[in-house]
Amino acid sequence: MRVGFIGLGNMGAPMATNLVKAGHEVTGFDVAGVQIDGVRSAASAAEAARDQDVVITMLPSGSILQSVYGEIVPAARKGACLIDCSTVDVESARAAHAAAEAAGLLSVDAPVSGGVGGAAAGTLTFMAGGTDEAFAVAQPLFEIMGKKAVHCGAAGAGQAAKICNNMILGISMIGVCEAFVLADKLGLSRQSVFDVVSTSSGSCWSMNTYCPAPGIGPQSPADNEYRPGFAAELMLKDLKLSQAAAEGVDAATPMGERATELYEAFVAEGGKGRDFSAMIEALAGQSRR
Ligand code: NAD
Repeated sequence: MRVGFIGLGNMGAPMATNLVKAGHEVTGFDVAGVQIDGVRSAASAAEAARDQDVVITMLPSGSILQSVYGEIVPAARKGACLIDCSTVDVESARAAHAAAEAAGLLSVDAPVSGGVGGAAAGTLTFMAGGTDEAFAVAQPLFEIMGKKAVHCGAAGAGQAAKICNNMILGISMIGVCEAFVLADKLGLSRQSVFDVVSTSSGSCWSMNTYCPAPGIGPQSPADNEYRPGFAAELMLKDLKLSQAAAEGVDAATPMGERATELYEAFVAEGGKGRDFSAMIEALAGQSRR
């Protein structure tokens, strides 16, 4: 397929690379001027979208997504499929779908889970919203960039699923960080905490795959001075999305609310630009009283 790829950051770059490796013809654009081996560079989002079978976006926010759609929707050829893999609010996702459909384009919201490691390894999970027809066009690409794609429902359903997943992630990462901080003070080695918890009922992705303690478990941003990875401000963005969504439908999410407050403080107090797992250092530096 001919694929346009807009947003070649921590996630987009390895995803685009996997499409190239699978033999697709990829044209990319990123405002930061990112160049990737095997990806033809376009001078604008509109140029990257022109004459493509599929256009993938992997952008930081809903407002940026909507402004990029303002450029790519008029440029894409009729019948092309737009796949947005960014994590954004459900309203922006639905607005993007509506703009695409009004122009005779297919459209899927397909945020991902699995982090930069999953993007590089091609093992992401895609959660998709849109019509059956659009999902069918996108599915072969999901199979290259990921290991699983779930069609969650109509427009915006992928983002709704993502918001629920990442609310759990924010809460569980704080839980794992708290456990290490408590264990340190109780005189337990971090290695023994990992060895027990990763094979016990406290096991979770934040412990087993993305351990926030350096030198323990599989390679993670903790082993790279907490360079993201998944930046704390993006975690905060997702937690805020979860709280806005919960507010809109009157869902009780007290742990999600507390996790949002803790990431808000972390980002304001030096966590911006660091991986979200660096929360362990912030908690370790605090006292209970
Ligand atoms: P990133 O900041 O590394 O990449 C975003 C890229 O978009 C940047 O390179 C930026 O220059 C580019 N960009 C911004 N505005 C643009 C525009 N108008 N036109 C073209 N390019 C533009 O972020 P990331 O970590 O790759 O995350 C991208 C999306 O994926 C976010 O929505 C994030 O929430 C989501 N996500 C990230 C992870 C992760 O672990 N990093 C995991 C799952 C989902």
